[in-house]
Amino acid sequence: MAQRQLQANRVAGAPASSGRQVFPRVTAPSRGALRISAVAEAERTAPTTRGSTPAVPAPTADIANKLRYLFGRNGDYTSTDAYQGTAWSVREKLIDSFNKTHEFWKKEDPKFIYYLSAEFLMGRSLTNTVFNLGLDGEYGAALTELGYRMEEVADAERDAALGNGGLGRLAACFLDSMATLDLPGWGYGIRYKYGMFKQGLKNGYQVEMPDIWLTKGNPWEVRRDDVRFEVGFGGRVERRKVNGKEVSVWSPSERVIAQAYDNPIPGFNTPTTSNLRLWDALPLSEFDLSAFNAGDYDRAMLERERAEAISAVLYPNDSTPEGKELRLKQQYFFVCASLQDVLSRFKAVHGSSWDLLPEKACFQLNDTHPTIAVAELMRLLVDVEGLDWEAAWTITTKCLNYTNHTVMPEALEKWPVKVMAKMLPRHMEIIEVINEGWTKWLSGHLKDVKGEEKAKRIAAMSIIHENPWNKEEMLVNMAYLAVVGSSAVNGVAAIHSNIVKDEILNDFYQIFPSKFQNKTNGVTPRRWLAWCNPELSALITEALGSDEWINDTEKLAGLRAFASDAAFQKRWAAVKAAKKAKLAALIKKVHGDDVNQNALFDIQIKRIHEYKRQYLNVLSIIWRYKQLKSMSPEERKKAVPRVCVIGGKAASAYDMAKRIIRLVTAVGDVINKDPETRDLLRLYFLPDYNVSLAETIIPAAELSQHISTAGTEASGTSNMKFQMNGCLIIGTWDGANIEIAEETGVDNVFVFGVRAEEINRLRKERKNFKTDPRWDELMRDIENGMFGDKDYFKPLVDSVNNMKVGNDWFLLANDFAAYLDAQEEVDRTYKDQAEWLRRSIMYTAGSGKFSSDRTIREYAEDIWHVKPCRPAA
Ligand SMILES: *Cc1c(COP(=O)(O)O)cnc(C)c1O
Repeated sequence: MAQRQLQANRVAGAPASSGRQVFPRVTAPSRGALRISAVAEAERTAPTTRGSTPAVPAPTADIANKLRYLFGRNGDYTSTDAYQGTAWSVREKLIDSFNKTHEFWKKEDPKFIYYLSAEFLMGRSLTNTVFNLGLDGEYGAALTELGYRMEEVADAERDAALGNGGLGRLAACFLDSMATLDLPGWGYGIRYKYGMFKQGLKNGYQVEMPDIWLTKGNPWEVRRDDVRFEVGFGGRVERRKVNGKEVSVWSPSERVIAQAYDNPIPGFNTPTTSNLRLWDALPLSEFDLSAFNAGDYDRAMLERERAEAISAVLYPNDSTPEGKELRLKQQYFFVCASLQDVLSRFKAVHGSSWDLLPEKACFQLNDTHPTIAVAELMRLLVDVEGLDWEAAWTITTKCLNYTNHTVMPEALEKWPVKVMAKMLPRHMEIIEVINEGWTKWLSGHLKDVKGEEKAKRIAAMSIIHENPWNKEEMLVNMAYLAVVGSSAVNGVAAIHSNIVKDEILNDFYQIFPSKFQNKTNGVTPRRWLAWCNPELSALITEALGSDEWINDTEKLAGLRAFASDAAFQKRWAAVKAAKKAKLAALIKKVHGDDVNQNALFDIQIKRIHEYKRQYLNVLSIIWRYKQLKSMSPEERKKAVPRVCVIGGKAASAYDMAKRIIRLVTAVGDVINKDPETRDLLRLYFLPDYNVSLAETIIPAAELSQHISTAGTEASGTSNMKFQMNGCLIIGTWDGANIEIAEETGVDNVFVFGVRAEEINRLRKERKNFKTDPRWDELMRDIENGMFGDKDYFKPLVDSVNNMKVGNDWFLLANDFAAYLDAQEEVDRTYKDQAEWLRRSIMYTAGSGKFSSDRTIREYAEDIWHVKPCRPAA
């Protein structure tokens, strides 16, 4: 009910849907041809959603001006030039919108949500900005006039890859939804100089190259020279008496500057443009001139290097913690700068009425990475602002909320007390005091529990505890600190939130049941359907009679009425065929091969991880290959041809994941060359999976694989992107797959495998598990060198050998037979194209729930208590 109300507020303030063309048909122009009519058309159809300027000038001249004065170019542009000119021109509109929004928000002083995240996987900005701001008509026409198509120009932009995978992309989708819903909110993070590494292949092995994304400048950011904060590390803490009160004074031994960069975030179909503020680390003093004058060049540069290292690289890890001090430094760096920034703005308006802070600001901790915020907010309120501990604690716990993203025990961050005490001595003291208060409170709370049992329970919930692998070492458990320091704790899909409550944080759940919530993830339907698949979007808009579904995805349910309509199915299939042709062209570009475009396009793209089980996929592909080989030519004619694509990065230190990539490429090398089967089966690894590649692959996918061991994938979000684009899913009963199946109709999804409830038992029993003979055969094939490199693949074979203690942890052998059965069911269904297309339409129709707009509305209502605040158009 409450949720509906929020939506009603939003819609009430919205302008009537303008008749503007969302999806211009671009006819390929002759390069350089001056098309005056196109400019006139652009002016005529200029968007009205934001247009307070009466006559919109043709941006053609503006693009040329930007190129002339910013880049010294005079005609004869490359498509990279066209991108730069367009981007710098669009940037001005974006900044106008940003300024208007923020002037309004300053005047209104609403409550803000600050989304603290070590990662934001933004991808490209040009297309998204142009479409979200409704500038597609003007800029499309301007580019046509200059002899370019928006699509090819957009291709010249480098991805902003300041994230590893799902967690970082979620943060990016959330920003889009917050702006679109007019929620006053900012993201806060780190402006990494080098984002996620670029992945290449060398002889089939992954190679990692630095992502030097800022070399050509970044039109999507604004450096704020007036927004800088000092951040300290190390040093010592002294106690002093000030006005009869004992205070702690921290004197850091190292200080750096956090320099703000703002990245405006345009909402769609609204005048709101919000912000992602990213921090760059700079030295306190530019340069040690005395050292330089003394001829010590190295020392003169040292401070700069040390400072810049903090925001230099994104840790290329996905769900394993990197126990590096530099990482803790990064976490504190951006949290400290962000909190100082928020508190200084609050102070400028409300002085020291700190009791009011929870009514004006709240923070969402995206996983445990920003959890040091609990101690930092306490430090700022107690040490800097002079509040009493109790008052500060009340404010802190009211302001903070924590999202858990993983069930992988190794990914729950714990920092050695020694490391933290050295780098953040005052914070370590604060955490100790928090823990004392917490365990004391617990002791009172557990008054009916006696003796040893009580001590055990308290120890189990202590924020500071022994390292179970090394009794000498004490650790700070960041998840526990986050739970104790927050108002709300949430998981990211229904099953995951239950695992959080029943297993990972069960002790805490028993004590604070009302703290725990579920917020099933979502993805932005703008980037992941409307803008990446304009052809399908146009068809949907035509069928539904309006494009309102873009902001109200529940309307997609209206497509169910067309699911069995043969004429509609035909058009639906034509769109898929066009997108498949694009992916085929990409495969041709990367691998030099032509693929059968009538084949079933079968995709698995995500970080490479044992729990995600790309290996299981490869095994089924090998089995398919062997089946095809054993068939007569007559039998082969009945087989469903498949083009399988696997993509994803392996963390640089994740040896097993790298071996999986090599197995994919090695199997592909054999299969793709085999003249007997190559028309029926291909396997390609597409390197450097990132947001842009996903935008090309997902619209072309017919089947996508989400086959994690049940209970291991917290939610998954690519499953939602595929669903929106009418791609069928083969998957386990895990993460958001479950809710996707519920929304799509369970019978429309190829579900297989063991259930999460069985996992613990099956893991215990896996030594007794009798493997399928087909499985045994495949293991022998790999061991015997069917795909070469047998020594390199040996650890892979061993890793799933359930006769070895501790192995096949992710239960591939247990799910293997059921997986092959599900794959056969896929083939049978694909042969019935009417049924396949019906399901495809049902997927898109059932994807309404998985808009991040829905997720963000739930956060806003249930956790943040932040309301829309929309500037006038
Ligand atoms: C959506 C997305 C992910 C998350 O994929 P999952 O399959 O849910 O793990 C990772 N990387 C990129 C580039 C994405 O766009």
